[in-house]
Amino acid sequence: MTSNTPRRQDEEQEALILDSVDRFLESEVRPYVHDLEYHDAYPEEIVQKMKCMGLFGCLIDQEYGGLGLSTVTYAKIISRMSAVWMSISGIINSHLITASAIQRSGTAEQKRRFLPRMATGELHSGIALTEPDCGTDLQAIRSTAERRGDVYVINGAKMWITNSLYGNCVGLLVKTDPGASPRHKGMSLFIAEKGPGFVVSKKLDKLGYRGIDTCALNFDDYKVPADCLVGGVEGRGLQQVLSGLELGRVNVAARGLGVAQAALDEAVSYSQSRKTFGKPICEHQAIQLKLGEMATRVEAARHLVHAAAAAYDRGERCDMEAGMAKYFATEAAFENAHEAMRIFGAYGYSREYNVERLYRDAPLLTIGEGTNEMQRIIIARQLIERNRI
Ligand SMILES: Cc1cc2nc3c(=O)[nH]c(=O)nc-3n(C[C@H](O)[C@H](O)[C@H](O)COP(=O)(O)OP(=O)(O)OC[C@H]3O[C@@H](n4cnc5c(N)ncnc54)[C@H](O)[C@@H]3O)c2cc1C
Repeated sequence: MTSNTPRRQDEEQEALILDSVDRFLESEVRPYVHDLEYHDAYPEEIVQKMKCMGLFGCLIDQEYGGLGLSTVTYAKIISRMSAVWMSISGIINSHLITASAIQRSGTAEQKRRFLPRMATGELHSGIALTEPDCGTDLQAIRSTAERRGDVYVINGAKMWITNSLYGNCVGLLVKTDPGASPRHKGMSLFIAEKGPGFVVSKKLDKLGYRGIDTCALNFDDYKVPADCLVGGVEGRGLQQVLSGLELGRVNVAARGLGVAQAALDEAVSYSQSRKTFGKPICEHQAIQLKLGEMATRVEAARHLVHAAAAAYDRGERCDMEAGMAKYFATEAAFENAHEAMRIFGAYGYSREYNVERLYRDAPLLTIGEGTNEMQRIIIARQLIERNRI
């Protein structure tokens, strides 16, 4: 292969981008994480810099002003970010799930109108699916949109919506035909910019994933123009959202990889400096067993995340691959964070050390973008479907 083959160029471009992300994380994020996280303060300056770097458009096609990166490169960016501070990866995840739904399923006019603004971050989106009484069973949502002339009038409530306080738009899943059977045929997705009737009712206080805004929303006769119905046809919302969630699962898997890696790095470093019984604790076999398992989880997670991202890039159906990556990498984050805390002993319980934050951040990953219980069910269903006898 010569040095100017497309693959080589892609690798060089990826290396340049990852290098600039690493430098940004070390100089602009790492020094401020502890304070921002402690005070649950929104990282406004970091967000502005992420916009300047083009990260809000990293998966948006270049013809719409984005960077047009592959999902593999995106996953590498997300795991690096999450190793420093998981919250900032969530800021672009929800945004890009909605952008990707528009890119994949929007009309030509919607792509021209919304994607360039999303690529710069001028339009900063979330994805609003979950409701107070349903998350996993999305077809049970009760928010409705009723067509009245050139607008749809939306009523209902959404819960746990990330980016909804500091963002200005959400991809909003509602029922346009609440009586439809099967239920998904009555579901539609709207591009909903903030306006009268779009109410952020409460910012939620969370165990971890702090700094980033996650809120409860109410829609009280909120009017959205009819041409903001994604794809222009009612009844396709669930499908549009579910294919976006495969991307979301790759993102969450990549976050899991980052958190698992950070917990391992902290443990490897601390175990060499902390001494008991006259030697560094890394020389005790009980600690070595933990480190060996933690490192193996990280490497296995890395392979699964990259395989799922590559399948997504090839345009293949990849709910099984994304499910495996999400399930394994996030459980790895959860277990590694726990083991790092044990290796740190009392210091792991102190808010002064990063492992305490990793321990609080990791559990979210087993819940968001489909719980890990559901991932195993999705994996099993696909396994049977692909291996029918
Ligand atoms: C910090 C945070 C940020 C979030 N951000 C967003 C966001 O931006 N947008 C958004 O739309 N949502 C968001 N969510 C919501 C998240 O996606 C949901 O919490 C998740 O989908 C699970 O839904 P639930 O909490 O209603 O749990 P439930 O659906 O009530 O499930 C409860 C338990 O039952 C299990 N369960 C349910 N059904 C089955 C089944 N059929 N078989 C086996 N087990 C089952 C689940 O695995 C879980 O263990 C966020 C949540 C958190 C905590």
